[in-house]
Amino acid sequence: MPITPTAKIWMDGQFVNWDDAKVHVLSHGLHYGYGAFEGVRAYPTSKGPAIFRLREHMQRLLNSAKILMLEVPFTLDELCDATVEVVRVNGMTNGAYIRPLVYLGYGEMGVNPLPAPVNVSIACWPWGAYLGDDGHNNGVRMKISSWHRHDPNAMPTAAKGTGMYLNSGLAKVEALKAGYDEAILLGPDGRLSECSGENLFIVRDGVIVTPPSSEAGALAGITQASIVTLANDLGYEVRFEAMVRTDLYLADEAFLTGTAAEVVPISSVDDRVVGNGKPGPITSQLQSNYFKIVRGEIPAYEHWLTVC
Ligand code: PMP
Repeated sequence: MPITPTAKIWMDGQFVNWDDAKVHVLSHGLHYGYGAFEGVRAYPTSKGPAIFRLREHMQRLLNSAKILMLEVPFTLDELCDATVEVVRVNGMTNGAYIRPLVYLGYGEMGVNPLPAPVNVSIACWPWGAYLGDDGHNNGVRMKISSWHRHDPNAMPTAAKGTGMYLNSGLAKVEALKAGYDEAILLGPDGRLSECSGENLFIVRDGVIVTPPSSEAGALAGITQASIVTLANDLGYEVRFEAMVRTDLYLADEAFLTGTAAEVVPISSVDDRVVGNGKPGPITSQLQSNYFKIVRGEIPAYEHWLTVC
């Protein structure tokens, strides 16, 4: 999806003009994929633009950095404050997609990441529905990828590491080239893991099921956690349970969750129609509540929002 430039990007504590936010071609992270990032969204609310679960995202960024032994020269509070400033400075009253990045910069080369400088940037821009408005409304066509998700002892699946997205990119390309909207990856044990950038849910006999992140080699999604809380609050039973691909084929409903994608119904998997192929009632209920929550329309969840 194309990027619409905004005015300023935060780089290592300073605001720089969008066009000047450049790195050297010999930056370490560009060569070895050593870095960590987040995807965060801000939404318009009656109190102004508000960032959804900012602290949780920035804590996950610091957790990813810890796993990768990247020494981030900013505290959690400093990163949260900087993100609010990025939204404010760019006047993102209609909301924004926000991309914090910790990366190894210019000055050292070689596989050893430890001597390379750690740089941090936070950018934002307006971004619509990641899987398209039609996907939001009518569901997406999924394909089980021939690429498996990382084995947690080959890549730290709890980290949102930049280089790890080669795996996601390969799965996405395979799905798109075959005419599907998005890929589902199996974990190293052949059980369902997650999508190229989203977590996976099914609904079966009124019970909501999602793969347990650490076992499935999936990222522990902040949208996933939010949907689990919401579903429990609405009175649904939610289970973290290992599943195989036929659980998807035979589900009553299926959907995916992620910051960029938000909550998107799945209409088919490997050309097997899920349910009746239309967004199911529980999926639709969770989706519409999610959109109300992020826009500050349900007071019980206002503590998830940071007004800018
Ligand atoms: N899995 C992967 C591989 C992702 O990249 C993302 C997006 N961050 C997710 C799941 C969903 O996570 P979240 O809901 O925190 O955005």
